[in-house]
Amino acid sequence: MKKPTSIVRRTPVPASSSTPVVTPLMPSVVYRSETPDALDAQYEGQASGYTYAREGHPNADVLAAKIDMLEGAEGGLITGSGMAAVTAVMMGLLKAGDHVLGGNQLYGRCLRMMAEELPRLGIATSLADPTDAAAMKAAIRPETRLILIEAVSNPTLRIADLDAIAEIAKEAGALLVVDNTFTTPRALKPFDHGADIVIHSVTKLLAGHSDVTLGYVATRDPELRAQIAVTAITLGLTPSPFDCWLAERGLHSFELRFDRAQSNAARLADALAAHPAVAHVLYPGRADHPDHASVAPLFGGQGGNMVSFVLKGGRAEANALTKAAPQIAFAPTLGDVATTLSHPASSSHRALTPGGREALGITEGFFRVSVGIEDPDLLIEEFTAALDAVAG
Ligand SMILES: *Cc1c(COP(=O)(O)O)cnc(C)c1O
Repeated sequence: MKKPTSIVRRTPVPASSSTPVVTPLMPSVVYRSETPDALDAQYEGQASGYTYAREGHPNADVLAAKIDMLEGAEGGLITGSGMAAVTAVMMGLLKAGDHVLGGNQLYGRCLRMMAEELPRLGIATSLADPTDAAAMKAAIRPETRLILIEAVSNPTLRIADLDAIAEIAKEAGALLVVDNTFTTPRALKPFDHGADIVIHSVTKLLAGHSDVTLGYVATRDPELRAQIAVTAITLGLTPSPFDCWLAERGLHSFELRFDRAQSNAARLADALAAHPAVAHVLYPGRADHPDHASVAPLFGGQGGNMVSFVLKGGRAEANALTKAAPQIAFAPTLGDVATTLSHPASSSHRALTPGGREALGITEGFFRVSVGIEDPDLLIEEFTAALDAVAG
């Protein structure tokens, strides 16, 4: 007879002289140590390893190291969402009395953070147009500590004057934070253009399958990294092992997906521009884009996977378009393997007044397409059929 024991107690993983080719999923919340001395050594940094999952776990570290490779960064941190990454940077580095300057077309929740959350904590904020370096410079204050921009604005796809803004930040002694979600390191490496901090919503193109919510932060200066990491751990902004594991799986095909989506986007942009139901197309890779001259130096002349267009007509035509294109998910996200269509006036920009939207060029006919990796001929056929249906 075997000695009785409890099935509740964990037994060691069976030994294997061969090792798995895939990163194991390690959901353990806690790690056991041999002795209090051994645990002490870990907390003091004399021994490496994990203690408690909110403080760090292998799946987050494996994922971070891979995104580091793409960004040319070191010591990147994974957070529970893209907004957790933004929060970790803001809460980790700012104090009451500081000023933050943001791009005027940031991601909607970042705009809300600038308008509501930071001022509530005594941190002043203002917004300026990042395509206009002089406007950004004029908005700098003596207490400006941080500048947050996206290289490509959402949803109008305007290109920030990144190199000039990096220069302005340096002169002002402010940190330049670039949200590289839209552009991705395949198109742009912000550290090569003077960024101090790069953040991502890994949820979007990097993970790529609309099944995880994660973020990433990397800093040029390791001291800033340490400050941000402590804040992320203390405020509980850290990620789940399962999400990290799934995102690593998605990340393996990121470069292939992005290249395919980008070439699809270029073709779709041209097809949309040629359709009589479309008033105009905004695609950074097209010669008629207002910032086309900035595209070559920043993105090697490629335009990314996001295409915006303005449909002739108003809300009725917009409703008709999404109805006529049931194969294309009408959903307010981006970066999925499949193409998605979003309508900023009814979603991301609904909080603005019609006049505020008009000033940005976001009319009722405005659509943003996150182009996926489908067969491009099929995609063009579906859009053309839907536009034909709207036109009449
Ligand atoms: C989605 C998004 C975010 C926020 O990321 P979540 O993972 O949804 O929290 C931040 N910035 C940009 C540009 C985004 O598109």
